[in-house]
Amino acid sequence: MKGCVFCRIIERELPSRIVFEDESILAIEDINPQAPIHILIMPKRHYSTLPECDDAGLLGRMVATAKEIARERGVEEKGYRLVMNINREGGQTVFHLHMHLLAGRPLSGKLG
Ligand code: 5GP
Ligand code: ZN
Repeated sequence: MKGCVFCRIIERELPSRIVFEDESILAIEDINPQAPIHILIMPKRHYSTLPECDDAGLLGRMVATAKEIARERGVEEKGYRLVMNINREGGQTVFHLHMHLLAGRPLSGKLG
């Protein structure tokens, strides 16, 4: 989608540090990491936010991708967090569906 920063990353119009890619998903390092491991997992197809996406298979593959990256990074046992911010009150700032994988430090509380 024109003007979408993540679509531009997917199209290689903007640089990013790619962690994983297949035909439907891209995973990149977050530009402003909130933990030693902070990866964004996104569909290549543009959905602005979760309520727009009814593709359960794709959403399942996003979770499976996060799980595999966590395994590769060796944080499975220690633990990690998957977060999806949805619309403004949910804290979403980039309106291209994505999931955060956070790990590498104790993530205090249930939400922070
Ligand atoms: P949200 O608040 O929408 O759930 O998360 C958006 C995330 O995208 C933020 O963690 C922010 O640091 C990250 N981000 C924003 N712009 C860019 C960018 O151009 N490149 C990368 N790699 N991450 C970005
Ligand atoms: Zn987009």
